[in-house]
Amino acid sequence: MKALSIPDVLAEVAVLVKPHFGKGRPADYIPSLAAVPGSKFGMAVRTVDGGEHVIGDADEGFSVQSITKVFALGLALNRIGDEIWTRVGKEPSGTPFNHLSLLEAEDGVPRNPFINAGAMAVVDVLMKVTKDPAALVRDFAGFLCGERLEIDPTVAASELANAWQNRAIASLMRGQGTIEHDPEAVVAAYCRQCALTMSCRQLARAFLPLAAGGFSPVAQETIFPERLTRRLNALLLTCGIYDSVGNFAYRVGLPAKSGVGGGVVAVIPGKATVAVWSPELDRFGTSVVGTAALEAFSQITNCSVL
Ligand code: GLN
Repeated sequence: MKALSIPDVLAEVAVLVKPHFGKGRPADYIPSLAAVPGSKFGMAVRTVDGGEHVIGDADEGFSVQSITKVFALGLALNRIGDEIWTRVGKEPSGTPFNHLSLLEAEDGVPRNPFINAGAMAVVDVLMKVTKDPAALVRDFAGFLCGERLEIDPTVAASELANAWQNRAIASLMRGQGTIEHDPEAVVAAYCRQCALTMSCRQLARAFLPLAAGGFSPVAQETIFPERLTRRLNALLLTCGIYDSVGNFAYRVGLPAKSGVGGGVVAVIPGKATVAVWSPELDRFGTSVVGTAALEAFSQITNCSVL
């Protein structure tokens, strides 16, 4: 990274992103996400050597949604291992995160663990080891950031009430044998998992093992073997931003995961994690301001892995 201090970089990024507000729209498929003001903006940087810097609404909790899929996959690979890869692929989908079209053409095997189909297959695998996979994911993320986390019951209930597309995906996968449990139970667990509330600061801490070779400086424990850490980062780089992952890699050049709550977390291997939140989304479901902020951060600090 260049000589500018991280607080200086964050202050500069906050100015550079200003023209990007108003270009996207907050998720509107459930009322509690639609109600979040589009003007929110927070960013947190956590370095592997213990530095922590925040700006804006970095301590405000928001619905992290698909970002939870990274915790769920990490847990499943740790607990169950490579069996996951008999049910889910490792390729970018090129289609929106909630689509079924490829799934039907490809024998019910989702392209990757970060589209909804793949994430539900991971939930199904976690159901082998626990009755409440969402609580396991919540507690794992909480352990990684050193704080107790909550699942928002209102978000979880309205996710479930509106989960028609996800029900179709789960049913199709049950029919094809990709998932073993009752599709309705899988969808309910998935919706609860997505309703996890975290702040940028908590996300930056929780993702730190992916920047530190698998070790969590927060939990003071090795979370993932080094090889698995590299593999998780590879999946984030190629599949973490759905069907705009190529554009994101072009602009930002870092492994990252987005969620429809407007959060995006990026990993700078060996150095730091950067979490950003701003609710207005592009048509692919990723934060417009969040992407612009990470692009600016990556350019100013020259931290792209590419
Ligand atoms: N709950 C959302 C869904 O299943 C999560 C998707 C996302 O964050 N991209 O549609």
